[in-house]
Amino acid sequence: MYIYRVGVVGAGTMGAQIAQVVSYAGLPVVLTDVTMDRAQRGMEIVRRIYHARVERGKMTPEQAEEKMLLVSTGSDFTALQDVDLVIEAVSENLALKRQVLHDLDAGCAPGAILASNTSALSISALSAATRRPGKVLGLHFFNPAYAMPLVEIIPGLATDPETVNDVVSFAESIRKLPIVVRECAGFLVNRLLMSYLNEAVLCVQEAAASCKDIEQDMIAFGMPVGPFALLDTVGLDISYDVARILFESYGPRMAPAALLAELVKAERFGVKNGHGFYEYEGPDTGMLERLIEKVRHETGHRNTPWKPTRLLFAMVNEAVLALQEGVASARDIDLAMVAGIGFPKEKEGPLHYADALGIDTVLAELELYARTLGERFWPAPMLRRMVAAGFTGSTAGRGFFTY
Ligand code: NAD
Repeated sequence: MYIYRVGVVGAGTMGAQIAQVVSYAGLPVVLTDVTMDRAQRGMEIVRRIYHARVERGKMTPEQAEEKMLLVSTGSDFTALQDVDLVIEAVSENLALKRQVLHDLDAGCAPGAILASNTSALSISALSAATRRPGKVLGLHFFNPAYAMPLVEIIPGLATDPETVNDVVSFAESIRKLPIVVRECAGFLVNRLLMSYLNEAVLCVQEAAASCKDIEQDMIAFGMPVGPFALLDTVGLDISYDVARILFESYGPRMAPAALLAELVKAERFGVKNGHGFYEYEGPDTGMLERLIEKVRHETGHRNTPWKPTRLLFAMVNEAVLALQEGVASARDIDLAMVAGIGFPKEKEGPLHYADALGIDTVLAELELYARTLGERFWPAPMLRRMVAAGFTGSTAGRGFFTY
């Protein structure tokens, strides 16, 4: 099926950005929310994104106006009766999303595909709220959607392959890079990213290094932004929610750092309320240091060593576990991490990076970390198999990729 008319339900941050991306590609889109007022607020976000493009000289005011005409608004499902695809981007709450999908199922044309922009909820659980589970999947955009090229496409247990193909073609038609990901908690990008970010928090908590030093080293490695600036931007409350969902699914290796929980308890949510790992409003009150001291006292961990590979190998190991589980191919894992979080392009993603270092080196360091820092670093079994078989990376001519 060729997807032409699109509906977006939930005109908040993501819904509005998605509507802008769709209209920018020249497709008509209906943006709905619970009230006309809220839908209009979403429309204002769309307008602001176009305005910024005009300001930067990327398009003329007339071109922007033409694109804006492709976006219409609505406050109920009657506006969505004849769309080919609905993307729901309502608040991250399972009961709410199930209700929305149930209502969409009743109100949309029988052939329409229903997609969810959920960051962490189970697509299979969402699709079970409809009588068309074959036509339900995850379509996960990244924030800001107008700048981030990646979208994750997540089939649920009952999604038809045809639905996946249609949505892959749609994603390409709106100039995104689609990666199909087998359903798992956090999908691919947030799962790998969180193992890296959580380790960064553990490093600070254990006095391995300061936030500033860790940020500097990761930026020197080539990351576009340091882990604490990223956590503060995403929101520590949202990051903690995601961390807990991953912990529930993957167990102890993903246990959220105690410091993250303390920061959320102290209502330090990051940029959005002015305080997180950094202060964005007012002087530094020393609160972060006090919380770190409290957690150090409670956990008994002090002065573990700092090396950037603590963060990077946490991500590499999780990438190998995901590869073993068939979540995505090695190529797609690397593409997704470059396009989704800005893993340095010249290093081509975590698996290419591991190949370049040598799989035997990565394995030896993970084993050392598992002994000295904790079992969360227990090496993915695939690494041992690769080393035993001589798949030790680019120097050997074969590793995750062939050279
Ligand atoms: P948001 O709070 O900015 O917007 C949610 C919108 O949904 C609100 O406008 C609200 O009025 C509307 N809504 C609530 N119930 C509704 C209903 N029954 N019908 C129609 N509209 C309804 O949230 P957001 O940050 O845009 O997140 C939306 C979704 O996107 C979530 O699932 C979130 O996990 C996911 N997501 C968010 C980000 C991000 O960085 N913000 C990134 C990727 C994915």
